[in-house]
Amino acid sequence: MKIIAGNWKMNGSRSALAEMQGALDGIKTENRVILCVPFTMISGNSGPAAIGAQDVSMHSHGAFTGEVSAEMLRDAGAKYVIVGHSERRMYHGETNEIVRNKAEMALSAGITPIICVGETMEEKDAGKTLEIIESGVRESVPSDGGDVIVAYEPRWAIGAGITPTDDDIAAAHTLIAETLEKMGRGGAPILYGASVKGANAAQIMSIPHVDGVLVGGASLKSDDFIPIIMATK
Ligand code: PEP
Repeated sequence: MKIIAGNWKMNGSRSALAEMQGALDGIKTENRVILCVPFTMISGNSGPAAIGAQDVSMHSHGAFTGEVSAEMLRDAGAKYVIVGHSERRMYHGETNEIVRNKAEMALSAGITPIICVGETMEEKDAGKTLEIIESGVRESVPSDGGDVIVAYEPRWAIGAGITPTDDDIAAAHTLIAETLEKMGRGGAPILYGASVKGANAAQIMSIPHVDGVLVGGASLKSDDFIPIIMATK
């Protein structure tokens, strides 16, 4: 069983989500499929894919105009939430500490956080990839609470149509698995994300410690998303 999570970012509509759920109804898979959609599409949705959000407030309630709390996400029916996506880190200045606070809020509401870590191109070029991954996991993943999922997303490869080598993905995922083990979170699923498509999904999911994938662009259309889900049944 693998976890196949889609990140719709700021795309889609309620009818597009209903259409995707309908298409997913027509396939047979043991994999766990998750769709992380904009806040407005969470409530009232149903189908084979579990629904997740793409962000959550680090505050529980109150005067935080425009924010959505973990309890509100739970109330709307979200089971998962992506925290620390590189676009949140880049455009909203989210640090590992903020990401951990958000993950803690999700856990307190019974929502599973999908916690993203990964290096920028500059960090990669400076030979800091493994250092950034390890500190990302240590500082962003809460030490206790319910289940978490970690996603390794090399930031330079997101939406770029390129991926690290299999060896580099294996090294990153092995380090994440070892770090989680030391934190008492051994066995938490680790997803790979960045430029996953039908053509490379099976190969990527055969790499040790890759428990599934987080998919951006190729999760928007069922013709692209279903081959990824079916790459490993
Ligand atoms: C992402 O942004 O989480 C992502 C994986 O994007 P893409 O698949 O489009 O590279």
